[in-house]
Amino acid sequence: MKYDYLIVGAGFSGLVAAERLCNEHGKRCLIVEKRNHIGGNCHDCYDEHGVLIHPYGPHYFRTNSDEVLQYLSRFTEWIIGNYKVKLHCDDREWSFPINLETFEQYIGRVSNTDEMEEWLSSQRINFEQVTNSEEAVLSKVGKKWYDMFFKGYTSKQWNCHPSELSPSVCNRIPIRTVKDDRYFNDKHQCLPKHGYHKLFNNLVETCGDRLEIRLDTDHSQISDDEWSEMIFTGPIDAFFNHRLGSLPYRSLRFEREHHADEDLLQPCVQVNYSSADIRHTRTVESKHITKQKTKGTTIIREFPQDYTEGMDPYYPVPNEESKKLYEKYRHLSESLNNVHFLGRLGTYKYYNMDQVVAMTLKFAKNIS
Ligand code: FAD
Ligand code: UDP
Repeated sequence: MKYDYLIVGAGFSGLVAAERLCNEHGKRCLIVEKRNHIGGNCHDCYDEHGVLIHPYGPHYFRTNSDEVLQYLSRFTEWIIGNYKVKLHCDDREWSFPINLETFEQYIGRVSNTDEMEEWLSSQRINFEQVTNSEEAVLSKVGKKWYDMFFKGYTSKQWNCHPSELSPSVCNRIPIRTVKDDRYFNDKHQCLPKHGYHKLFNNLVETCGDRLEIRLDTDHSQISDDEWSEMIFTGPIDAFFNHRLGSLPYRSLRFEREHHADEDLLQPCVQVNYSSADIRHTRTVESKHITKQKTKGTTIIREFPQDYTEGMDPYYPVPNEESKKLYEKYRHLSESLNNVHFLGRLGTYKYYNMDQVVAMTLKFAKNIS
């Protein structure tokens, strides 16, 4: 019997699509996933020492959407997401994102919001229109802090100058003039109590035998006769065999280090390294947020890498050129009436988890 939907990719977007299609619309779905696990990049697992880690980079759940939180709460309980980051620069650690404490560290004494505001206005550079990430930062904090906190990190992460990236990239990082050093501003900041993998397993269980999942399977292995409609959550340019050109992506290499005799190694879950001389961008110690009670700890260093075919395309690169090429692919995708593109790679958007969940819920609502 034919599947109503072939869903390519078992990340957040593929799984949420499957759940809605099976449970709300009574459809039969097949998910194919080329990796050997579900969850996409949000996958978590226990390493060989029993530490719960995020092998594809840290995944801090946060959202302003009550709807997304309520929806996901069907599959998990939550613990508070105490997402704290420090930034390493000039041989010391700074409070980050920039806040009143960062300013106090910078001037070497106690201060207040008024003084910080005044100092920032003396540093800020005005632009008629902010058109890139360099200008976005200069217009908020000026050249000194741009050089210290953003220039080196951004150049390493994206292998280009910040002026070549859309303002939205560096605008992800809040700037505050009060003593609030949370990494995010979102209303809800939390983590699945028993991990992401458990959340995904619970979601899959609700679908019963309406859903089949085939791991280690590329979508090219599935014949067109087996399905009526397709949801594709992999890279949109790969779907079209790069016929209009290849979209740019950034990839990462992760280096893991276990410390059997330490309970915790870092002051917080993430330390960013802004110096261009240090090749990694950040080190992540997940025990700070999972609150796991286990002996030993694991830290993961993240080294940005150029993307070539066969690697994991972790980040779409937000700039004018890629936007134009993506628009061409989007236009091409509209000529297919039974294939739908969803998710971070399917729509080539630098989206967080909650944004792909929101996008998928919206898609599912419009299905007849
Ligand atoms: P993915 O998770 O990428 O899933 C797509 C799946 O499709 C993959 O498993 C892939 O193997 C599979 N696939 C692709 N092509 C094929 C094919 N041809 N056949 C079969 N399978 C295929 N978001 C947050 O909200 N908070 C964070 O802290 C956060 N941190 C991040 C850190 C890093 C390093 C990265 C890279 C991302 C981070 N994100 C974070 C973003 C988050 O990972 C994404 O929003 C989310 O994974 C998108 O889900 P998705 O289903 O669209 O894509
Ligand atoms: N960024 C930076 N310095 C930092 C942290 C971030 O310059 O210490 C810039 C960098 O360009 C990065 C972007 O801000 O890619 C977004 O940072 P975020 O922490 O949101 O990156 P992600 O978790 O998505 O990799």
